[in-house]
Amino acid sequence: MRKNIVAGNWKMNLGYEEGVSLFSEIVNMVKDEVIGNQEVVVCSPFIHLSSIAKLSASVPNVHIGAQNIHQAESGAYTGEVSASQVKSVGAQYVILGHSERRAYFGETDALLAEKLNAALKHGLKPIFCIGETKEERESGRFFDVIKTQLEAGVFHLGQDDFASVVLAYEPVWAIGTGLTASPEEAQEVHAFIRETIAQQYGAEVADATTILYGGSANPSNASTLFAQKDIDGGLIGGASLKSRDFLEIVKVFN
Ligand code: 13P
Repeated sequence: MRKNIVAGNWKMNLGYEEGVSLFSEIVNMVKDEVIGNQEVVVCSPFIHLSSIAKLSASVPNVHIGAQNIHQAESGAYTGEVSASQVKSVGAQYVILGHSERRAYFGETDALLAEKLNAALKHGLKPIFCIGETKEERESGRFFDVIKTQLEAGVFHLGQDDFASVVLAYEPVWAIGTGLTASPEEAQEVHAFIRETIAQQYGAEVADATTILYGGSANPSNASTLFAQKDIDGGLIGGASLKSRDFLEIVKVFN
């Protein structure tokens, strides 16, 4: 059985105190509510990681992650943070390949392959994002785009390493726009991703891979999205900044 995960991506939001207080609310709510086997992950800015890692220690199914790492081990890379540094504060996850990093920071598939290797080397579980732009969707090329992102960014991994990777399908046109992919549109791509994984690693590995949906997911649409056969949870942006909304989405799996 593959794992269901609801992950929040806070992006570049929340001051230190605001982030710690939002995370405390999430932890308390998860403690109070009966939560099933789903895993809750919060990917915060670096400034919050160390403090929220301590708060998460008391709740077994709440984990934390970073939103980026540098690919090098250490050294003269002013302003950057390495995989081992992120791991050293108690984070378990890291988002890689988010479309905002691809678009605004020029992150290529080749660079992301290096970042993926660095994360895995230090025991961080990558949440690896893939997805097409509006133009790519409208031109009908989106299956090719997604296949290339997988082949160039991820498929160099051996089967054991691949088993630690969580994938997130985030259509760029749905991120922060309020334009969610319909459950059918999302399911179609998730099934394609799983089939592409099966061709590379075999059906058993594909079946065990957690594939999240991201892009304007909220408490109103999460249940129909997560009801799809190949959608195993969500990567939530805006709605993860409100503890009630985030918890509603987590509880879809109860
Ligand atoms: P929104 O949920 O705000 O659309 O963001 C999705 C996202 O980019 C998560 O990584």
